[in-house]
Amino acid sequence: MKVSVLYGPRDVRFEERDDPKIIKPTDAIIKISATCVCGSDLWPYRGLNPITQPTPMGHEYCGVVEEVGSDVRSVKPGQFVIGSFFVSDNTCPHCQAGYQTSCQNRELIPGAQAPYLRVPLADGTLVPTPELPSKDMLPSLLTLSDVMGTGWFAADAANVKPGKTVVVVGDGAVGLLGVLSAKQMGAHRIIAMSRNPARQKLAKEFGATDIVTERSDEGVARIKEMTNGIGADSVLECVGTQESMMQAFRITRPGGHMGFVGVPHGVVLNGQDLFFAFAHIHLHGGPAPVRRYLPDLIKLVWNGKIDPGKVFDLTLPLDQVAEGYRAMDERRAIKTLLRP
Ligand SMILES: [Zn+2]
Repeated sequence: MKVSVLYGPRDVRFEERDDPKIIKPTDAIIKISATCVCGSDLWPYRGLNPITQPTPMGHEYCGVVEEVGSDVRSVKPGQFVIGSFFVSDNTCPHCQAGYQTSCQNRELIPGAQAPYLRVPLADGTLVPTPELPSKDMLPSLLTLSDVMGTGWFAADAANVKPGKTVVVVGDGAVGLLGVLSAKQMGAHRIIAMSRNPARQKLAKEFGATDIVTERSDEGVARIKEMTNGIGADSVLECVGTQESMMQAFRITRPGGHMGFVGVPHGVVLNGQDLFFAFAHIHLHGGPAPVRRYLPDLIKLVWNGKIDPGKVFDLTLPLDQVAEGYRAMDERRAIKTLLRP
């Protein structure tokens, strides 16, 4: 089979690799129906995470079970399944607490930008849909593997509740789905920070009540002005840069909650600031435990309550994966869906 492999900065190739095989009795092999490029794939793509050897790419996936190992009980060949970007046993203490991305036996999904994928710990990782989905539903189901679950976790970690004022920092796919999540959770006011007209439009479709285009000091001043000088109850940080993290801290009210899901790169926090300038802020973040949310989010998509697949504004055949990365790198596309 041919798969996506990153060789170095901005060097994605589509090349031959062996088909995956069952290695452990807890593995499953799935035939990928749809996969995509993640915002976090852009960090190594841009050379911000070093690439020491050619690396198969992709960790977002959904598809049909082809084969299962002898110990797999909860999924069977022919079922359509979705799984998280980290596999988990779903039984250890961290999984039981709902933090499957901290599973004691976690492994990162290797190389999902491919026609077939081996998923370790299949019983703990994969969740089947009620039936085989229609083709229209594929993009939305695919988002549940990472980006939608991550937006949902950002909102959950930021304690979004009915009546609250929410600010979303970041207008990438995760930020936009953070807006959608906040809307589902009943937020009263959802302020999306974005300068990009296409992204502002989608944020509004997903439930944003206000758009703020200012950043840094001006952005902070604008949010303060909109909240009577108080700051927001819930802030979703969906970027991971020093600027976006500081933005998020500075607009969260004392006693408010900040959910951070952008993978931090070069972020430095000052202890005195944490204690004084950002006093009393509840912080909660990390790799989203999307496995916890999968059953509920599958129901919401299946029943037509949410349509997170709208974040895909570019669909390409898998063999054009390099263009999929370029389009996202140059911000010509919000998110690229790839069809094997
Ligand atoms: Zn576990």
